[in-house]
Amino acid sequence: MEKEYDLIIVGAGPAGLTAGIYAARADLKTLLIERYGAGGQILNTYEVDNFPGFPGVTGAELGDKMSEHLDKFDVTRLMTEVSSIDFAEGANKVNTDDGTFTAKAVILATGNSPRKLGIPGEAELTGAGVSYCATCDGAFFRKRTVAVIGGGDVAVEDAIFLSRGCEKVYLVHRRDELRAAKILQKALFEIPNIEVVWDNIPKEIKGAAEGSVKGLQIANVKTGEEKVLDVSGVFIATGNDPNASYTDALEKDEKGYIIADESCKTSLPGVFAAGDVRSKRLRQVTTAVADGANAVYSAQEFLI
Ligand code: NAP
Repeated sequence: MEKEYDLIIVGAGPAGLTAGIYAARADLKTLLIERYGAGGQILNTYEVDNFPGFPGVTGAELGDKMSEHLDKFDVTRLMTEVSSIDFAEGANKVNTDDGTFTAKAVILATGNSPRKLGIPGEAELTGAGVSYCATCDGAFFRKRTVAVIGGGDVAVEDAIFLSRGCEKVYLVHRRDELRAAKILQKALFEIPNIEVVWDNIPKEIKGAAEGSVKGLQIANVKTGEEKVLDVSGVFIATGNDPNASYTDALEKDEKGYIIADESCKTSLPGVFAAGDVRSKRLRQVTTAVADGANAVYSAQEFLI
């Protein structure tokens, strides 16, 4: 396999796949490195209802379509993990489990990952009743009672999705107001088997001896009152952290996202950040694909 490229794109979510399409159309010799295959975070979404032209498409379908679109073009794809990158102007070295690859320009489109709560029981019961992906694991909880933690778009979407198969869904939120989009809130409040538990934080996930979830201990932040919800699954949807630990060489914001403006130019020449790993206001599929295009446009300028 070739070791030297004009451009290496790290990540195969919507930003990376879009960058791949634009790079191929710009005739750049391109390597796209993907960790677990194409799609990124949309694979965790049952339905994507705000990507224009694809109303109601599932996350998996949209990821597949983008990946197939890229396969129409001449881009080398490699499934491996990047351990570190040695940045050097015009000769960056990307170190992976399958060797080192060099490129004049690099686009980092490594996205972000679900944030852990750090409460007792969470780590021990992950995969045994604790999940960060309702669309992946929801089917295991048919006709059972589960809790979703969080008040953002993902938590509300997860609660709605789970309510279709579960007997009951508790949505546990730490405030008395949801952060999620109003249209999602409206749908949520109309579903009879969802109960929103306001002003409560999770304290501990309780497990049965055989290693499955048997309850979620919560505490009311206003009254201090504690109780245990009788649930057999806990879905954690409390936000994300950036996947950028492979580098300390780039400027990052206080949350660890790589600083770059709409041009996707980072603090180093020839290095670009696109999609959810970039410090930005709105993380959506639409803004990720826009970044993919902008990053390649900037990379082309740099290469010329
Ligand atoms: P988010 O918007 O950051 O929401 C995280 C939620 O978890 C918040 O409600 C937060 O409470 C709560 N939370 C955070 N830490 C907590 C803790 N330690 N204990 C209890 N609760 C905690 O994250 P997200 O829902 O994962 O969404 C991520 C991004 O993807 C957002 O920009 C979102 O808009 C976007 N997204 C969009 C769509 C869509 O447009 N269809 C779908 C999915 C995701 P507070 O509200 O009190 O801070």
